[in-house]
Amino acid sequence: MMCIIWTLVLLVAIIPRPGGGTVVDLTHTYGPDVLYPPIGPGGTADMFNFTIMHRGYEPSLDAWLEINWFGVFEHGSTHVDAPAHYAQGRAHLHEIPVEQLIGPGVMIDITDKAKHDKDYLLTIQDILAWEEDHAQIPQASIVMLNTGKHKLYPNRKLFYGTETPDDMTTYHNPGVNPDTAKWLIQNRQVKAFGTDAHSCDPGQNSNRNRCHEEFLPNGVILLEFVANLDRMPPVNSTIFLGPMKMRDGSGGPCRILAIYGEDIAGVSAGNAMSFSILLSTSALVLNLLL
Ligand SMILES: [Zn+2]
Repeated sequence: MMCIIWTLVLLVAIIPRPGGGTVVDLTHTYGPDVLYPPIGPGGTADMFNFTIMHRGYEPSLDAWLEINWFGVFEHGSTHVDAPAHYAQGRAHLHEIPVEQLIGPGVMIDITDKAKHDKDYLLTIQDILAWEEDHAQIPQASIVMLNTGKHKLYPNRKLFYGTETPDDMTTYHNPGVNPDTAKWLIQNRQVKAFGTDAHSCDPGQNSNRNRCHEEFLPNGVILLEFVANLDRMPPVNSTIFLGPMKMRDGSGGPCRILAIYGEDIAGVSAGNAMSFSILLSTSALVLNLLL
């Protein structure tokens, strides 16, 4: 009995406490200025419907009350593409496994290359050079591509790189070479791939969205219009994805957080391991003593 009590006392004393890490919000604010491709039923109109139903003092409750109605396009602003978006029979939004919504974060910065070539395609060589500078991309990572586009959001013309943003054929944005997408799936088993542009497929490459065709049928979810990528570190972060759990959605708005720093990110991996070793050692010692 004493052994159990002592073990519990020790457990409370050494359990890692959060606080001290840094949380970065990788999400644009959803509002009337939301960016989306002009492919909805009403073209560029009515893609964000936010109607105030009540805002004011409500006598029956004797309290302030706010209630709104909203309707949005699945693929506007910061959002997730579910595998079903480009693959028949694959997971819809509500079917994405929760394990896929959290993982080691990787940020690959191609802003310099994108400045010189607005339709730049990420190559396998870029990935290998990045790994040379940092470390091999961990298995089952959430990889983010920083093209610099997030700084242009929500200016429609600057973001899409065109004077005619209602015409998608005029878009200019960096993306990913389809061979690189295939390589990341086969060799690094990425679980999610994100970009701060509106798509991982480049604006001017072809009519086919070949990276969508590589990633989504292989179960890799995509993140588009990701914000604040210049504020997350290249390595040693944990990314949390919070997409709406909408039945049969092909995609949907998503809150994305990157967390780095010893006290928060470390709890899930290194600290948990040292915690369990310390706990079992303590229990063994106390068993011998009592
Ligand atoms: Zn999408």
